[in-house]
Amino acid sequence: MSKLSTSGSKAAKERHKCPKCGKEYIGYPALSREDNKTKICPRCGLSEALFFYTENLNGCTCNFWLKEK
Ligand SMILES: [Zn+2]
Repeated sequence: MSKLSTSGSKAAKERHKCPKCGKEYIGYPALSREDNKTKICPRCGLSEALFFYTENLNGCTCNFWLKEK
């Protein structure tokens, strides 16, 4: 029985260390929006996405929620 390594699905189970929070995570990395090439954990990727999103709104997160009709 020989096991062929499928590089495609391998990344899904690989361990990575997030340079942003320093924690290890398993799975597909997210690209940092700071330079578009640093691989970070999905959690940091999400918080970066939210951060940049609110930055675009001039940091008016309160107004953003209040503006909702
Ligand atoms: Zn992280």
